[in-house]
Amino acid sequence: MSIRADYLDYQARRDKLVSGPMGRLWQNQESRYVHPFRIFGNVWYVGDDWVCVHLIDTGDGLLLIDCGNIGATAMLVNAIWEAGFNPADVKWLVLSHGHLDHIGGAAFFRNMFGTKIYLGAPDAQMYRERPELSFVQDADSAIATIEAPDVEIHDGDVIQFGDTSVQFYLSPGHTMGVISCFFDAHEGDRTVRCGYYGGFGFNTLQKDYLIEIGDPEYRTRQIYLDSLARTRDEKVELFLGNHTINNDTMARRQRQLEHPDGPNPFLDSEAWAKYMDKKRDDLLAFMADPKNN
Ligand SMILES: [Zn+2]
Repeated sequence: MSIRADYLDYQARRDKLVSGPMGRLWQNQESRYVHPFRIFGNVWYVGDDWVCVHLIDTGDGLLLIDCGNIGATAMLVNAIWEAGFNPADVKWLVLSHGHLDHIGGAAFFRNMFGTKIYLGAPDAQMYRERPELSFVQDADSAIATIEAPDVEIHDGDVIQFGDTSVQFYLSPGHTMGVISCFFDAHEGDRTVRCGYYGGFGFNTLQKDYLIEIGDPEYRTRQIYLDSLARTRDEKVELFLGNHTINNDTMARRQRQLEHPDGPNPFLDSEAWAKYMDKKRDDLLAFMADPKNN
């Protein structure tokens, strides 16, 4: 080897990464920066325009739901400061599931601030036994790590974070350790019920993927449908996205900016069930498509 050979090796890896179907997700992440904003009361948006990160001010420390893409941690830290909070006050980090685009800041927050990490138990097991299913390798960062959680979340757990009590369920499908959760947010005298579903993508329902993980009968697809059905009738007044596409985060934010004195565009009692039904219909169509079977 030589310095020159090392460089050519780097360049070849970089070319391969950025020309791949997900290549844009690793380049110029700062172009996806979103100025943080208050969604409602003590719930803030500190994610980018693709993957959501939510910050809940519990009155006794900050709770983060997800921590951004690998390589986007500086943006997240900046967003937390810009929102008027101190990143050192993030006591708890709940991960929606174990994929690389939601776990980027986990090691940073744990190492810098002692933040406690929570992850659905099946994805903690995935990290131990099949770490490749985190897709951490897709970031092509030999430095990135997947962090074993401090607390494994089980179906039905209720966990208190400061003044906020969070009801958790496991919603397996996208990964087996996807969590969904429900909690109250407050603004003045008003309390609303927030709902969050931690992973909707069908990338992990593709036949090649399912065959590789040992599910040649595609049972995971039915498990996903069952998870949607189980949470569909929860009372949710404020639907928080996992990716911004789920709840039209950016369009709602735009309405909020244009009509600062109008009704809060994030308060929408129908959005949750509507999206659950849409994903159910999309998945049924996906399952019926011969090319997926
Ligand atoms: Zn995912």
